[in-house]
Amino acid sequence: MKILKNVTELKKALEKKRSLGFVPTMGSIHEGHKYLISKSLKECREVIVSIFINPTQFNNRNDLKRYPKNIKKDLNVIKKFKVNFVFIPKIRDIYNFKRKEKISINKKDLILCAKHRKGHFEGVLDVMDRLTNIVNPSKIYMGEKDFQQYFLVKKFLEKRYPTKVIKCKTVRDQNNIAFSSRNLLLGEDSLNKASNIVSDIKIIKKKLLNKSNINSFLKTQSQKLTKKYKIKIEYLELRNLINLSKTNNLKNSRIFFAYYLDGIRLIDNL
Ligand code: AMP
Repeated sequence: MKILKNVTELKKALEKKRSLGFVPTMGSIHEGHKYLISKSLKECREVIVSIFINPTQFNNRNDLKRYPKNIKKDLNVIKKFKVNFVFIPKIRDIYNFKRKEKISINKKDLILCAKHRKGHFEGVLDVMDRLTNIVNPSKIYMGEKDFQQYFLVKKFLEKRYPTKVIKCKTVRDQNNIAFSSRNLLLGEDSLNKASNIVSDIKIIKKKLLNKSNINSFLKTQSQKLTKKYKIKIEYLELRNLINLSKTNNLKNSRIFFAYYLDGIRLIDNL
C-alpha cells in the first residue's frame, strides 16, 4: 500500500493506470467505508482510497472543527485490505486553482440536505470534481446512506468524466444505526436513541401502506418523534429514488430523514 501525500506523488504513481477504483472518504474509517473498499477491490484491478476532510462542504465551522480525525488508525485499518494507494492531500493540493465558473445546484435539487445545508453540495461537487480530475478513476464508490450526495455527484461527474459512480448499500451496526464518522461524537444514551429512532421510522414506513395522504401523516409523525426523543428534525419525507421528488407511492421510494441529536446532525434513509 503506497501512501501518496500530494498531487505530484499521485500523478507519478497513477500514470497509465486503468481499471482504477476510487473510494473518497473524510476518514475515521468505519464498516461503511470498509464495504465500499471491498466492493471496489472486487470490481477493479487497483484501488485508491482518499482521506480528505473537505472544508468547503461544511456550512458550520464548529462541525468542521469537531469532525473526528484518526489518520494513523485509519491507515492501520486500510492496510488490512489489498488497497494499492491511499491519497492524503493537503488543502493546498486540492484547492490550487480558482474555478472560473461557480458550481451551483439546480433549483429543483434544492431539497433535503441541499435546502438545509446552504453551500454544502456546492462544496461536495467542487471537491469531487477536483479529486476526479486528479485521480482519473474508472469507477467511484459512494454510499447510499448519503443518497442525495450520490445522486448529485453521479449526475455531475458522469457528464464530465469517463467514470461511473457506483452506489453501495448502507452498512448498519447491530442496533441498526447506519455507521457514520459522526457517531463517534455520540454518547451511549444518544446512540440508544438513534437506534430507537430507526426502529420507529421502520414502523412508520409500514404504516404508510394504508395512508392516502402520506405527506401530512409524515408531518404528524415528525412532530411525535420530536417530542418523544427531544430531537430537532430537519426533514422526514418520502421521496422516489429516480429523481428524489416527493411521492405518495411506496414503490421505489424511501423515507429520507435528517435530525440533530445532542447537537450532532445525523442523516439516513429507509
Ligand atoms: P464520509 O467519510 O462520511 O465522507 O463517507 C465516505 C463515503 O462512505 C461516502 O460515499 C458515504 O456515503 C459512504 N458511507 C458513509 N457511511 C456509510 C455507511 N454506513 N454504509 C455505507 N457507506 C457509507
